[in-house]
Amino acid sequence: MKKLFLSLNNKLFKRAIGYIPGGVNSPVRAFKAVGGTPVFIKSAKGAFLYDHEGKSYIDLINSWGPMILGHAHPSVVKAIKSAVDKSFSFGTPTEGEVQLAELICEMVPSIEKVRLVNSGTEACMSAIRLARAFTGKNKIIKFEGCYHGHADSFLVSAGSGALTQGVPDSPGVTSSVVSDTLVARYNNLKSVNQLVEKERGQLAAIIVEPVAGNMGVVLPEKGFLEGLRKICDCEKIILIFDEVMTGFRLAEGGVQSLVGIKPDLTTLGKIIGGGMPVGAYGGKAELMNLISPAGPVYQAGTLSGNPITVAAGLATLNYLKKHPEIYGKLNETTKKITLALERIFSMNGISVTINSIGSMFTVFFNKNAVTDLYSAKQSDTKLFSNYFHLLLSKGIHIAPSCFESLFVSMAITENISKKIIGIHEEIVPELR
Ligand SMILES: *Cc1c(COP(=O)(O)O)cnc(C)c1O
Repeated sequence: MKKLFLSLNNKLFKRAIGYIPGGVNSPVRAFKAVGGTPVFIKSAKGAFLYDHEGKSYIDLINSWGPMILGHAHPSVVKAIKSAVDKSFSFGTPTEGEVQLAELICEMVPSIEKVRLVNSGTEACMSAIRLARAFTGKNKIIKFEGCYHGHADSFLVSAGSGALTQGVPDSPGVTSSVVSDTLVARYNNLKSVNQLVEKERGQLAAIIVEPVAGNMGVVLPEKGFLEGLRKICDCEKIILIFDEVMTGFRLAEGGVQSLVGIKPDLTTLGKIIGGGMPVGAYGGKAELMNLISPAGPVYQAGTLSGNPITVAAGLATLNYLKKHPEIYGKLNETTKKITLALERIFSMNGISVTINSIGSMFTVFFNKNAVTDLYSAKQSDTKLFSNYFHLLLSKGIHIAPSCFESLFVSMAITENISKKIIGIHEEIVPELR
């Protein structure tokens, strides 16, 4: 029987559509890839999201990364509450900013100085400007499938030829802006070397997600990041690790500490704001001292280093620093879940490739290894949509696209992981 009345959630979405483009303030929240209506969330605590109809969901999105401690973690709540009482923006420097900068520099060894901004987008955009100013060169290399925010020069996709320059990936982005952005293939040093040879002497920076999370999780193959470091050293190109997602997520010092490679610049975001809007870029002092007002490279922000953001970020990073065992535990929980999922899918004759590292993972409905955007795109998106909606109906909220990383938070207890596995045992047979 057809429902006579729209559910509360659908009513909200209908209102949203009237006043907000597509009803959402970021396209990743829409259910465009999977169909249906996004779930409006009213509150969240620990591992759970609660909607307007009283349903709860185990959260595997975690605000797309920041909520590593789980929702409304007491130590973060306490820090924000006490900061709010002192007013929420001064437009003057504060002690908290100094503490957060010191903490970031201490925890990420390649960062000697750091500048706070308001989003990962700003961080990446500003890091590129700095690299161009330092080298006096214009061109940059990015990798297909890596995301560095929505600044014009990153909204590029590979041209049709294997080695052409990028083409605009969105209306409104001019071809002259993207003509300085070259696109290489992830895990493919040959494609980088070919671009470097062709554009020798013109390259300012190579920017890369050292573990890719924005085409689904794709791990760097052995030698890939080392190779990039070597190329950058030989050619005097600035190497930028975009650790907006992976910073403090995979280790206290990010991917760079796991692989032992020092980038020249690092971009951060997500976790360093504990769920508040944030970004940061940092690196060698020699480079960072070029930024205004220390140097001539202009970059500013009315609300940058916002005291509430800083309080939330400090509480989160301090907690991680005090409890480094969290990373081992997150790893263990995630392993348990992904191994069980592999077993359940295989028992049911469904081919999946699960890429996972630390507390990040992606289930690709794909029988082959996923090592770059091309192989990621061979996944069965129709099957993913069915999987997504079955999970949602059983109370697990994963990202509404198969090209995203899922995140495990500290709030996922042994019992909750058992629940996740149990629900999979229930729904996966229905996928066949
Ligand atoms: C999320 C993300 C960004 C963009 O950050 P925003 O805060 O959304 O602007 C940039 N790079 C990577 C790797 C990200 O995951």
